[in-house]
Amino acid sequence: MPFELPRSLSPSKVTSFRDCALAFRFTAIEHLPEAPTIWTVKGTLVHRALERLFWHHARGDRTPASAAAELGHAWHELQADPEYTALSLSPDAADALRSEAETLVRNEFELEDPNEINPVGIELTLEARVGDMRLRGIIDRLDLTSDGELVVIDYKTGRAPAPAYERSKLIGVHIYALLCEEVLGRRPVQVKLLHLKEPTTIVAEPSEQALRGHRQKAVAVWSAIERACRDEDFRPRTSPLCNYCRFREFCPAYGGDPSRAAPVLGGACMPGAA
Ligand code: SF4
Repeated sequence: MPFELPRSLSPSKVTSFRDCALAFRFTAIEHLPEAPTIWTVKGTLVHRALERLFWHHARGDRTPASAAAELGHAWHELQADPEYTALSLSPDAADALRSEAETLVRNEFELEDPNEINPVGIELTLEARVGDMRLRGIIDRLDLTSDGELVVIDYKTGRAPAPAYERSKLIGVHIYALLCEEVLGRRPVQVKLLHLKEPTTIVAEPSEQALRGHRQKAVAVWSAIERACRDEDFRPRTSPLCNYCRFREFCPAYGGDPSRAAPVLGGACMPGAA
């Protein structure tokens, strides 16, 4: 009995499938819950603070003080977030998390002057049909330059990649650029990863040829997912990521049985649901 296809393909799903098809099956097909981590929660907190900074403050009012105040609001919201409460942090660990988030938000001002930014979309969801799949993405920020051009911005709260891996990390923002072209009819002139930790910015200019290449990659990944669902064949791909994989005990590469994962962890979709 085949697995049910995901409803859409997003940049994170493309990356997940390419990293390890079996881990992709557990999360995107069987919808097994993933335990929250301090890193994902920190990312949520920082994204929310920057979202609020650009939503609630006009140019001229986007100062480090207003960003710190918005982080305070985001921190307050976070206290009711199940992903945060599941971490059961000690007061010291919670203080450390907030303090690291404050540094990341402050570093935004090292990378750009928010008062010069004209955002035309914040947490902007775009969806388009590409071939026989639905491509979907949520763009952290879409800016309009003074020349009337679009720029895609993606905030990153983890460590920036080594120069040799920068290109591979740009696939997500290139897919966002592709979505802009499909939905808005305009190709952004730049895509940027704002790495808030270092802080450093990785920039690329998505040419027509580059977007064509990324479109082909996305279509190829979707075809591979269709095949894997049809054949129930999601192979494990071991890598250093296995050290952080929640599903390792169910992975055949480590002597586990994938069919036990859903009964143990509680999935929403089982084989034969299609
Ligand atoms: S342990 Fe490694 S190979 Fe196995 S599912 Fe997780 S990421 Fe994939």
